Amino acid sequence: MGKDRRKFLKQLVGISSVAGFSGFSTLSYAASAKAQIQNIRLSRNNGFVRLVFDLDRSIQHTVFSLHKPERVVLDLKNADMLHGLVDMIQANSLIRGIRSGIQNGHDLRVVFDLYDQVTPRSFLLGPAGDAGHRLVLDLHGLEASEKNTAKTDHVKTAPQKVLRDVIIAIDPGHGGKDPGATGRSGTHEKTITLQLARKLEKLINAQKGMKAVLTRKDDRFLKLRERIAVATKNNADMMISLHADSFPDPRARGSSVYALSIGGASSETARMLAKNENASDMLFGDSSLAVDDAMVNEVLFDLSMTGNIQSSLDIGDEILRQIGTVNHVHKKVVQQAGFAVLKVPNTPSVLLEAAFLSNPREEKNLRSSAHQQKMARAISRGVNSYFLRKAPPGTWLSEAVTDYKVKSGDSLSVIAHKYNTSVEALRSRNALQSNNLNTGQILKIPVS
Ligand SMILES: [Zn+2]
Repeated sequence: MGKDRRKFLKQLVGISSVAGFSGFSTLSYAASAKAQIQNIRLSRNNGFVRLVFDLDRSIQHTVFSLHKPERVVLDLKNADMLHGLVDMIQANSLIRGIRSGIQNGHDLRVVFDLYDQVTPRSFLLGPAGDAGHRLVLDLHGLEASEKNTAKTDHVKTAPQKVLRDVIIAIDPGHGGKDPGATGRSGTHEKTITLQLARKLEKLINAQKGMKAVLTRKDDRFLKLRERIAVATKNNADMMISLHADSFPDPRARGSSVYALSIGGASSETARMLAKNENASDMLFGDSSLAVDDAMVNEVLFDLSMTGNIQSSLDIGDEILRQIGTVNHVHKKVVQQAGFAVLKVPNTPSVLLEAAFLSNPREEKNLRSSAHQQKMARAISRGVNSYFLRKAPPGTWLSEAVTDYKVKSGDSLSVIAHKYNTSVEALRSRNALQSNNLNTGQILKIPVS
């Protein structure tokens, strides 16, 4: 891409590089000039919460409420939003969470999950002073508004709506002619990653609303591109690539979680491991992805990945936190490096180095089925924690799970009985490590 063109594109989407959030599809952006939500501001006023959406042009919109659970839905015609923007809005006493998704390929839907019933009011404002086009959405608490004069469309939730599963792509690293790292006792990385992947697959599939897909189910070689294609083809909501590498220093130990970095690596270990992983592909297969730095440098590619990386870091955090309960953690924060396998368009992706095969003690652990199971459980808890907060719209997890506030004297078995579910299901759904509950704690309960 020429310098001038890159500069032009940068200007075109300048705001997103400033904000550091983006994630709109490059294709749809190029194909049609969509209205962009560039910022969302929230203010609390007497009796209502005001949300101001800063837009780059005027927009057509509709607002309506849904009940049980209480929600307000904002539909914006032919619009897009910088990825990660909704995450910047803090939950408050009224708004429990905000989700967004693209509808009909070009419209934007923003869903506000609320603690209480509200009356939404919205209006548009044209440019004035320093401000551009704005859409204002006021959420009035019912007490503060006249209940009878609400002009809102009340739509019932359609019970027959088909809700999809959250799809988790699991990628056991290496395979076939590429054994990956080899430990002193002769353990191949490709064997460990597949065993761990199988255990994780079982745990994910045991949970309602979640489905695992594996990039490989046996000992076969896959190019990095083919691994990415499995995630893309299955519309995965995230991908986790599993590894257990070696390092020159046998004392190196512990688990690390990686997300893609467009720029430099966050540590020397990260840089070296990424080089090793990418080299597998160059040694054994398709080198184009691993070495094609030009692709990484494309401005648009860069921008479409930025939003992904934010989500990847978020998922990575959750997984790392859970892994920390079962294994030593090599680096306490999610590391970033240019792993080629993490370049999955529009899909947050993380790479887990479960442990170092080059460390004799860790090699022993990695071979242990019990230890693998502990690790798989921890990963599953991390994945759950993330998707409980960020279930994509239209998934069972986003629609069929409700909040339950623990009362004093509650126990998991009593709650499970009351909601016709099991203690095990509640524990895995809520990433609980024990049966202990705290009064006031919020549990996610399936309501189907
Ligand atoms: Zn590896």
